[in-house]
Amino acid sequence: MTKVAFLGLGAIGRPMAQRVADAGFDLTVWNRTAEKARAFAATATARAAATPAEAARGVEVVVICLSTSQHVESLLDGPDGLLAGLARGALLVDCTSGDPATSRRIATRLAARDVAYIDAPVSGGTSGAERGILTVMVGGDAAALDRARPVLQAFGKKIIHCGGVGAGDAVKAMNNAMLAIHVWSTGECLTALASMGVDPRVALDVVNASSGRSNTSENLFPERVLTRAFPRTFRLALLDKDIGIAAGVARDEKVPSPILQLAAELFRMAHAELGEEADHVEAVKMIEHLAGREIA
Ligand code: NDP
Repeated sequence: MTKVAFLGLGAIGRPMAQRVADAGFDLTVWNRTAEKARAFAATATARAAATPAEAARGVEVVVICLSTSQHVESLLDGPDGLLAGLARGALLVDCTSGDPATSRRIATRLAARDVAYIDAPVSGGTSGAERGILTVMVGGDAAALDRARPVLQAFGKKIIHCGGVGAGDAVKAMNNAMLAIHVWSTGECLTALASMGVDPRVALDVVNASSGRSNTSENLFPERVLTRAFPRTFRLALLDKDIGIAAGVARDEKVPSPILQLAAELFRMAHAELGEEADHVEAVKMIEHLAGREIA
């Protein structure tokens, strides 16, 4: 069976790695906080490595899923770094929601060592990871994607080749920018309706049978806002990062993007106000705070 390493056992990385283990791959895991890797290896069929180099040694496919591309880049160098372990001919599959420029830099450094790289960010949340139905958006060589596909299929249902290295990151960032805008706009609309006395459940019932609907109105608001549950599955800090990448891509491409730039600013403020551990849907608490009332 293909030897695989999985680096980064965070909220989404852990269930993705679990799917890779359950699919029967010969799996080694590594995580910065070593206890998480040891706990994973204690229950799954996997070994815990002490360093990124040790995890990558002798492995054909290394999957990595960290918070940012900068974190991935920071793991390359040094005696314990990925470059010290990756063999010629290996493949690095970067599932981080990253930024295209850093991914291209990483790909160039790896190519000099005959190691292939694809950016392969995912969508579908922690529950999609647990069920193995993530969408995977890939940037890089079609041949490298073909090599990665059996591993990606362990956690991904729809695997889409978007273009060269960085294209997967860019599509992911734009997707999440749309998510952020949906969360914010739905929050403003429902707060205004609640303020004039319309029950937000009634309002959502209408919207979800009409043209304003989205995953945010159909699922996130009923399950997380109206219930006031706000479960912590995807950190606001990470959505702030994503929309910042999206706004940067639009600026680099010199595409007019006033909504993207404004939304990036709003999510930067919400992140600063609500902190590192807040969930992305908690951004609506900023609107509620400014309005002096809760939606529900
Ligand atoms: P978490 O914050 O839960 O986990 C982050 C992971 O990155 C942890 O394993 C953490 O290690 C590691 N890490 C952070 N900084 C460093 C560093 N400097 N060096 C080494 N490792 C580091 O994030 P998620 O798992 O939620 O997200 C991971 C990626 O997936 C992000 O890019 C995110 O945007 C994306 N994503 C997340 C989704 C979700 O629903 N959660 C959905 C789709 C994409 P440690 O345990 O030591 O802190």
